[in-house]
Amino acid sequence: LMNIYQPLNILGWAYREIRQAAVDMERLFETLSLSPDVADAPDADALEDKGGAVKFDHVSFAHEGRDRSLDEVSFDLPPGSFTGVCGPSGAGKSTLLKLLFRFYDPASGRILIDGQDIRRVTQQSLRDQLGLVPQDVVLFNDTLRANIQYGNPDADEAALMAAAERARLGDFIRSLPQGLDTLVGERGLKLSGGEKQRVGVARAIIKNPRLLILDEATSALDSGTEEEVQKALNEAAQGRTTLAVAHRLSTIAGADQILVMEQGRIVERGTHAELLAIGGLYARMWQRQAEAETILLEPAPHPAH
Ligand code: ADP
Ligand code: MG
Repeated sequence: LMNIYQPLNILGWAYREIRQAAVDMERLFETLSLSPDVADAPDADALEDKGGAVKFDHVSFAHEGRDRSLDEVSFDLPPGSFTGVCGPSGAGKSTLLKLLFRFYDPASGRILIDGQDIRRVTQQSLRDQLGLVPQDVVLFNDTLRANIQYGNPDADEAALMAAAERARLGDFIRSLPQGLDTLVGERGLKLSGGEKQRVGVARAIIKNPRLLILDEATSALDSGTEEEVQKALNEAAQGRTTLAVAHRLSTIAGADQILVMEQGRIVERGTHAELLAIGGLYARMWQRQAEAETILLEPAPHPAH
């Protein structure tokens, strides 16, 4: 009997782990709880906004007692560009984002934003420039208005509705009798995965960050919903430097550059077409996903007569 239940237990465990990880990420980034591992330098200045260029310069990092999660990672994000990051689970994608948010400092190497080492600037000014749309957007038990305004408490009504519109929530909000004053969350209206994600996008838009970070922001959605959210994300990315960790490669196929990670290293980089031409890890991942989608989308072949 034990053996029969084992796989179910493991599935349940994995599900809880994944959910918890998503919630932890959200807390970590969104409540801006300053990390105990990291302190402002005594002479720290505010990060100066000069366009939003990001540079990882030979960055290495290991979680305590573990092998390197990042090994000599170098790349540039030009201002306003869109960069996709992909690679197998455990490759170091989330670690890379955590370092950019300065939840940890690199063991060696530097991370620069507009030429400023992020260790030398105040954490508040750094995080003010970073907008995150996490995998699993957490809603508060409050109104839609409060949930969107969380991205920028000073935003006025016009800015709120503009952000909602750009996040493709306008029609949804107009369809609600109480509009932005609708209560959501556990004690209010339950939003679908796609609606929650778009609230996350609206939050990011209203914050108006120079850098937009997407951590597998559409992986939990079905493909119809994903398309809507993807459009919202692409609009939000306009005029910002965007770094998008993707599970579905189709969401980053149009990126200016794609970084392919494996075991803490960038093993391939280039545009979608360049990576397909290399015929390496990215091309294999692309092929596998294309096959999986064909199986799901195509009707079963007619049985032979
Ligand atoms: P990805 O996001 O690509 O799946 P991660 O950045 O989460 O990969 O993980 C990279 C490596 O670092 C993995 O080997 C993972 O087990 C390890 N790792 C991630 N977070 C922690 C942590 N908090 N403590 C110890 N090891 C960690
Ligand atoms: Mg991850």
